[in-house]
Amino acid sequence: MSIYDDWGLTPIINASGAVTRLGGAPMPAAVLQAYHEAAACAVPLDEVQGVASRYLAEVTGAEAGLVTCGASAALMLGAAAILARHSPARMEQLPRTEGMPNRFVIAREHRNGYDHAVRAAGVCFVDVGYHEPIAGAGVRRCEAWEYDAAIDESTAGVLYVWTEDSQPPLAEVVQVAHRRGVPVLVDAAGGLPPRSNLRDLIACGADLVCFSGGKAIRGPQGTGILCGRRELVSSAAVQMLDLDDHPALWEPLPDLIVREKLHGMPRHGIGRSVKVSKEEILSLLTAVKLFIRGDYDAELPRMEARLRQIADGLNDGQLPTELIPVRGDHYPQLTIDVSRAPLGHSAWSVARMLRHGSPRIYVGHGLLTTGKLVIHPLHLRDEDVAVIVREITRATGR
Ligand SMILES: *Cc1c(COP(=O)(O)O)cnc(C)c1O
Repeated sequence: MSIYDDWGLTPIINASGAVTRLGGAPMPAAVLQAYHEAAACAVPLDEVQGVASRYLAEVTGAEAGLVTCGASAALMLGAAAILARHSPARMEQLPRTEGMPNRFVIAREHRNGYDHAVRAAGVCFVDVGYHEPIAGAGVRRCEAWEYDAAIDESTAGVLYVWTEDSQPPLAEVVQVAHRRGVPVLVDAAGGLPPRSNLRDLIACGADLVCFSGGKAIRGPQGTGILCGRRELVSSAAVQMLDLDDHPALWEPLPDLIVREKLHGMPRHGIGRSVKVSKEEILSLLTAVKLFIRGDYDAELPRMEARLRQIADGLNDGQLPTELIPVRGDHYPQLTIDVSRAPLGHSAWSVARMLRHGSPRIYVGHGLLTTGKLVIHPLHLRDEDVAVIVREITRATGR
């Protein structure tokens, strides 16, 4: 009997990768072991975050780092740090922002559902630029001068959402923002792999960068990383750590908290609602270690082989497939075009039938509008290959 049987839950086949909705990435045994061992003792949490800060600084090239409960929480804490800095009064006031600059400039094409995390700290966005190719009305996208034009005395920061295709280039946005004395917060939650991004975005001059711990890093699903300038990470740490200590006994860890900037001991901050445990912090650090060492790369050829087996199992011309092979430390991926399948179901219907089959299969849904299913290999086991071929064959009538 497994824990799933005990609670009447039926696991699925996850062919979508490390998505939160389906429980994130599979955790390696060493990460689970770290969680287990960390639970065995008590230790002050700021000391654990202090160790995390030093390690994350070393591996990202940033001045400091913090383990957060997901990249989304890192975005909220990063925004809270930029708004409140080391003012205990402002920390207490958030998410209300009367009397402080509270606007973040953002490219209109960077707006997305996760910016709610930044707004949750009290930020109001000022959107700039257009994505004319998407509108079918031109060739230009957001340009760096548009940030410059939008920055004024009410501007607290810039939010930049990193993807391989993001425009304008991060370095240009950083240059404009810094010339105007405004920090740049980067959402790079989906920016790994490549693992070089762990350092490259900080090297671009970003003040704070957020990564997800439960995606490619394969730490606990509820973890994330906020790294960047020491004073901002310090403010974020103060706003997240539990501060139910006596002021006469409180000794903020110098490694983590820039005490001389704090005039008074703040109460629980806005980030107290998104706390992380020592077990999560230490298992995330273990996962980061495996990730940067390249331990996961050894699995990539096997992942590609599984996708090739699925493609071979389906490939008789009625369901055209495309296999994107492993590139560097990027996952391989398989797309299956079901738009001309014999049964004539739309890709949406096929995806829905797979979700309701036995076993239930969740395929990647990013290309359904183009008639394609995406198979992401991160979670697939050898035994899933034949099941996926069988169920897709059933749903499409191939
Ligand atoms: C996944 C994701 C997030 C949220 O990350 P969590 O670690 O799940 O909180 C935020 N932004 C982007 C772009 C993402 O892809």
